[in-house]
Amino acid sequence: MTHDEFVASIRERYVDLFDPDNTEGDWAYLITVGPGWWPLVEEYCAESQTLLREHGETGKWFIRQIKEKFGELRIYIRPVAEPLNVDWYSETLRDIDPPQPTPVAELLSDLRGQITEQANRTCEECGDPGGLHVVDGWYRTCCDKHFQEWQERKGLK
Ligand SMILES: [Zn+2]
Repeated sequence: MTHDEFVASIRERYVDLFDPDNTEGDWAYLITVGPGWWPLVEEYCAESQTLLREHGETGKWFIRQIKEKFGELRIYIRPVAEPLNVDWYSETLRDIDPPQPTPVAELLSDLRGQITEQANRTCEECGDPGGLHVVDGWYRTCCDKHFQEWQERKGLK
């Protein structure tokens, strides 16, 4: 499966999790992680979709980006913007007393924690057991074999 095919399959199967206003340009950079992490992305999408359905919040949260940063899997999911016609009273209350995280926000955060924790131990290239490697300020979570290849490619060995 190519990266484009993977993104297309996620887009097709988890329609509820993505902003329908995303352009093709948005989609080109929405999911940019290597194949070793694709099963984790898939698992995250499946479980967050179920979670949102169970809590009646389907369509209220959108995944904005899934990428690698400093060797870690980063998943950005955000509530859909609140309607603009909030009345004055609740607006004022919010200023005084910022909203507490909702149960769904906490569950999504726990789920993301579980998935990214697994990614920390999974090679982003091939999905084998791995760990974080840092070379010359470059970060990569990979298995021993891909660490070797990476160093060779960079001319470090
Ligand atoms: Zn590997």
